Amino acid sequence: MLLPQQTIPLPPIFYAEETGQPFSTCLHCSCSLLDTQTPYLIEKAFRTYQPYASTDLVFEYAICLACFDTIWDTFSEASRQHLDAYFDDQVDPLARAQTLLEQQPLDVNHWVSHCLIKGTPATALTEYQLMAVGVGDLLVLSHVPCLIGGEALDEITTLLSKETRDELGGFMRDFFPQPPGLEEAFPIEPLLFL
Ligand SMILES: [Zn+2]
Repeated sequence: MLLPQQTIPLPPIFYAEETGQPFSTCLHCSCSLLDTQTPYLIEKAFRTYQPYASTDLVFEYAICLACFDTIWDTFSEASRQHLDAYFDDQVDPLARAQTLLEQQPLDVNHWVSHCLIKGTPATALTEYQLMAVGVGDLLVLSHVPCLIGGEALDEITTLLSKETRDELGGFMRDFFPQPPGLEEAFPIEPLLFL
C-alpha cells in the first residue's frame, strides 16, 4: 500500500537524548544517517516513574533501512504473520495518515499524542515507545511517527515466537549491555518491526 507522506524538519523529540542532536549513525552498521537519502528508523522507549512523574529514557537508537531489513528477515515466519495480522486488525494506516496530514500546519505532536493501538493519551501512560522514520535531517510523516503504550507493547510481545523474542533479546544485549543482575531493569522489548 502506498501511503501519502510529507516531510518536516526533524523535531527535537526524535533527536538522540544522549547528544541533543539528530541520530548521526546506524546503531547496527555505523553508517552515516545524515549525509544520505537512505531512510532510517528511530525508536525511543520511555518509562514514567510515579509518584514523581519523571519520565526516563529506557533506550534509544536509529538503524538504517538495510539493517532493518536484515533484522526483519531474522524474525520467524509465525512472528511476522502474527504482527502483520495484529496491525492490520488494529490500525488503518491510510486513514490515519490522510487525517493527520490534513491538519495544517503539520505538527508531530498530533502523531504521538495517543497510543496508536489503544488510543490512551500519552500523558496517562507509564511506559511507551516512540517510532519514526527519518531521511537525513527530515522526519517522514506517513504510517509513523507513532506512540505505542505499555498495554499494546505487552500484547505485541505475546505475538512473537520464542525464536523471535530471543533474537530481540540478543539485539538488546549486544547494543545495550546491562550490568549483571540488572537485566530486569530493561523490560521493554524493541519494536524493530514497525
Ligand atoms: Zn545500518
